[in-house]
Amino acid sequence: MKRKSIYLDHSATTPTDPRVVEAMMPYFTEIYGNPSSVHSFGRKAEQAVEDARETIASILNCQPSEIVFTSGGTEADNLAIRGAAWHQRTLNPSRNRLVTTPLEHHAVGQTVTQLDHVMDFERLLVPVDQTGRIDVNAFRNACAESAIMASVMYANNEVGTVEPIADLAQIAHEYDVLFHTDAVQAAGQMLLDVAELGVDLLSVSAHKFYGPKGVGFLYVRKGVALVPNQSGGSHENGLRAGTHNTPYIVGMAKALDLAYAEFEKHIAHYREMRDRLIAGILARVPQAQLSGHPNQRLPSHASFVFAGLETNQLLMHLDLKGIAASGGSACKTGSPEPSDVLLALGYSESEALSGLRLTVGRQTTAEEIDYTIDVLQEVVEKLYDLAKV
Ligand code: PLP
Repeated sequence: MKRKSIYLDHSATTPTDPRVVEAMMPYFTEIYGNPSSVHSFGRKAEQAVEDARETIASILNCQPSEIVFTSGGTEADNLAIRGAAWHQRTLNPSRNRLVTTPLEHHAVGQTVTQLDHVMDFERLLVPVDQTGRIDVNAFRNACAESAIMASVMYANNEVGTVEPIADLAQIAHEYDVLFHTDAVQAAGQMLLDVAELGVDLLSVSAHKFYGPKGVGFLYVRKGVALVPNQSGGSHENGLRAGTHNTPYIVGMAKALDLAYAEFEKHIAHYREMRDRLIAGILARVPQAQLSGHPNQRLPSHASFVFAGLETNQLLMHLDLKGIAASGGSACKTGSPEPSDVLLALGYSESEALSGLRLTVGRQTTAEEIDYTIDVLQEVVEKLYDLAKV
């Protein structure tokens, strides 16, 4: 029998849409000029970059000049946080607090930690509840205490919880605090209208919405000043030096355009697959606990903890049955670490070692979901039996 191959790790990355690849192709071989060159080869590439910027800006409901192209979500997060913190330092060194949450991706978390350790900024972590929703009162208090900026992710990569970004941005502004959101997981699944969200800075990465890997952008509201992290040429209004990656930028704009043009269709499909998966697992695997928020969660995202089991074991057994999933923690072979996100939600150390994330996509079928439920039931029963011996 042919081995199954079921991909349920779309939060890690998505396949590139063939229509996106097709849009990118001419920019490798035909329209290959450097967008900064003045001649006709360069001008054609520059036009493609500017068209992509306009497409993205129209989806975000902002000005094209407010979009800064980067090499992905990590770089966009670094530029937003370090860039804003460094700028604020030049204005008022006594305001030094950076407000964030224990749920952030390392691209945000490690950047804030570095600023705290080596540049005398102070990191303030706002607690979250058992479902991963931020404590809004604690957020308000944190903003009131000499804070310069706040960074709260739109949707969490590990447990899928969606945060009340528009409310948080409004609170931050009451205290004159800049508001950044990491929208890497949200892009393609949640509305990205920055006027409605009211954010100052928003990070996006193309490979989460069927675009290419290694390209992203940062929305920077007009009037928000950043110090660039990467110095060199004057690309991207002096905010991001380096020759533009024309094919990837074109591909990202095409992918975002498709994701929002076909939004209802894809979201309805994700929800149907996700809900079938969650309902099936909770009904058939009594040890499974749904992690994250029951309904304020990404349409594609299901996540669980299996107290007493280990993520690596689960992943290995699922992989043997042809199912690609991922864990809640940064597992290193031999020495798995408990997930910081699950610990922040109040899970015990042993529970925080047992996270499983299953994220559906455009190609996921009901048959694949049913097979996954069958396999998970079998694998979990077997592992619990072994654990008893
Ligand atoms: N932020 C979040 C929430 C993510 O999930 C990821 C990637 O998984 C990133 C940032 C980093 O994005 P990139 O892979 O484009 O560097």
